Amino acid sequence: MHTKHCNGCGNDNDPILTNCIFCKSALPIIDLDSIPNEVLVMNAAEWVGKMREGWYTAKAPNARPRMVIKGEIQGNALRYLSLLEIRASTNINLVNTINNLRADYNKYEKKMPSNQKMALGFFLLLVAMLLSLFIRQFI
Ligand SMILES: [Zn+2]
Repeated sequence: MHTKHCNGCGNDNDPILTNCIFCKSALPIIDLDSIPNEVLVMNAAEWVGKMREGWYTAKAPNARPRMVIKGEIQGNALRYLSLLEIRASTNINLVNTINNLRADYNKYEKKMPSNQKMALGFFLLLVAMLLSLFIRQFI
């Protein structure tokens, strides 16, 4: 298994992480070069996929669930993509895979998370209400 075991809470973490996603304890340092390409691609795809929603809830048997936000997801996706890009420079078979992941990454990066959209909608509603109050004074 290519995971990092946390000594603080005992949960397994993604090998790209330096601190436990649940308890923030420092995770053991591993040689990222020892991770096979397939695992790297799989994990990269997972983080890029999580960008679609903009957030996710990390769950583990003996930890309180934690909401992971877009910036954190994006950072991990980027770290995987740059690792893969280094490998692709000596492995032509990886180039297509990375280009697809990059395209997804760019697509999801531009998309506004739904909670921001909701905040914007609420703000516009408020502005409209204030405007209608303001206009009513002059009629
Ligand atoms: Zn932990």
